[in-house]
Amino acid sequence: MAIKLFDSLTREVRPLRIPSAADPQDVFSFYNCGPTVYAPAHIGNFRTFVINDVLRRLLELELGAGKVRHVRNLTDVDDKTIKRSRDENRPLGDVTRQWTDKFHADCAALNCLPPHDEPRAADPKYLREQVNMIECLMEKGNAYRAADGSVYFKVSSFADYGRLSRVRERELQPGSALKALAADADEKEDGSDFALWKAWKPDDGPNKWPGPKGAAEGRPGWHIECSAMSKSLLGMTIDLHTGGVDLLFPHHENEIAQSECCNGTTFSRHWYHSEHLLVDGRKMSKSLGNLYTLDDLAAKGFSPMALRYALLSGHPRKQLNFTLDSLHAAESALQTLRGYRATLPDAGVTHDVFGPVLTALQDDLNTPAAFGALFTVVNRKDGQADRASFDRVLFALGLKLDAPVAPKTEIPAEVQLLADRRWSAKQAKDFASADALRKELAAAGWSMLDRKDGYSLEPAKK
Ligand code: AMP
Ligand code: ZN
Repeated sequence: MAIKLFDSLTREVRPLRIPSAADPQDVFSFYNCGPTVYAPAHIGNFRTFVINDVLRRLLELELGAGKVRHVRNLTDVDDKTIKRSRDENRPLGDVTRQWTDKFHADCAALNCLPPHDEPRAADPKYLREQVNMIECLMEKGNAYRAADGSVYFKVSSFADYGRLSRVRERELQPGSALKALAADADEKEDGSDFALWKAWKPDDGPNKWPGPKGAAEGRPGWHIECSAMSKSLLGMTIDLHTGGVDLLFPHHENEIAQSECCNGTTFSRHWYHSEHLLVDGRKMSKSLGNLYTLDDLAAKGFSPMALRYALLSGHPRKQLNFTLDSLHAAESALQTLRGYRATLPDAGVTHDVFGPVLTALQDDLNTPAAFGALFTVVNRKDGQADRASFDRVLFALGLKLDAPVAPKTEIPAEVQLLADRRWSAKQAKDFASADALRKELAAAGWSMLDRKDGYSLEPAKK
């Protein structure tokens, strides 16, 4: 049986390659674009990482743990990380280390397996690899140096550009939204050309490195890191490349252009993109007050395992609307599974009734169907299942039933009172009082998040 997955390039559900069992060198190579480490990742980011974690687990179950190599990068040099370091007046490395550590802690709380390699874009070894690849593209005529010493990829030099995202020349004309997305500087010959190397600017502060031959000192563009690091760790052709849908264009389109022009061969055999998480029906954003981190949810008393469950409850290729209610439902589903497991005999029964769960996952990672199949067995309560096969299902989904439930932060009565008064003042459009009450809340160590039809309270971030 093979794992079948939607391929964004061919637009069909296709089996993944199966490496040769006889050849120990032949492993399945899996590259997942990782986070930009400048702030805590939000639950949308974690939807993507949890889905990729199920994929990794399924590959291991199917092929054997030693037959899968999983790489996920860390973007630790770009506009956002540099801005954060400038704003906080701290070295870039300190900022990115802090948020890398936080990312690792959150991934562990969500029971995501660590990738086999986690290369960083600003690691000297990988800076070298990125520079090498840019030089390769310049030598082959796919890249050029601009007046300021930056280097750009010449999109018109790659006939296949746009094959993944179906962007056509027409759509890359001046003024189009896609053109604006693709563009990231003005020194280029053609608007859709993208930066491989960015010449140093004063805003970059001390963050600069020697560039490709003939280019200025500066830093790599974002897209080149994945092309260079996947080549270095997994070779020129990889089996599977994944990320959230927003990465399809321009990031992955640009990765294909860079890798295929430099290497002269197919970059990835399979492309998989999972859809975004919405919160209360809308795109997450700080200004809407609907952007959650794991800590935000812990402060409300929800466990990371409930979040993992909720994030997997929708089909990965459909948008999922997250609500706090979905976390309540997830907590109670986990409780049911915990109770069910306790009824299973330790030994003596070797009856695997969970085949349909794994079949659902093998069929384009259909996690809601997998949960459906799991609860069909659980609700039968016929005691026929063996514990080892149940645990295999838990492993595939990455559900840890012994994980402690996060303690709920108690809200003191006086804080609740202040918050209620502030909410009333705001409803009455008495903004002066509302502001004064917000300050009182802050002094008591609490912050209030306003939503359209209510509010929530959280311990203020230090
Ligand atoms: P970033 O740190 O912005 O590079 O994003 C890390 C990963 O999270 C990428 O694969 C994005 O596609 C993904 N991502 C960003 N926002 C969301 C969202 N709202 N829902 C699901 N995935 C997301
Ligand atoms: Zn990438």
